[in-house]
Amino acid sequence: MAASTEQVGKETLAYCTSCKMDLAHLIAAMKGDRIAKAECKTCKKIHAYKAPKGITEPTAKKPKKAKKSAEPEANPIELEWEKLMTTHKETPFKSYSMKGKFVLGDKIKHSNFGDGIVGRIIYPNKIEVIFRTDLKILIHGGL
Ligand SMILES: [Zn+2]
Repeated sequence: MAASTEQVGKETLAYCTSCKMDLAHLIAAMKGDRIAKAECKTCKKIHAYKAPKGITEPTAKKPKKAKKSAEPEANPIELEWEKLMTTHKETPFKSYSMKGKFVLGDKIKHSNFGDGIVGRIIYPNKIEVIFRTDLKILIHGGL
């Protein structure tokens, strides 16, 4: 087995457990006719020899942002809107007008924003209306 020790210091392709990919290594130690330890030329770490796995790109750094945009989370306003619409399903709609007078829980049909429900009275003349996708502050009880 004298020949095997001559392999030490020679370059070989191995899987680096630190870099998580196949990289050029220097043979650091032999065991019989097999490579026991290899030094990664990239990270300079000596580790147990692992045969190349055919991985030439790091696997740990896959971007995860794409998945998030593909599955948008439910809009919290929309959930609230659906809940309120169910709770107040017996309430008739009123058409919105700045001159109208609205109270909490009134359902409003708005020409631009669609169906909404009064979620909050802000000032005597302002109401917060929950529409399907957005909250809007509307004026009411105008003079
Ligand atoms: Zn490495």
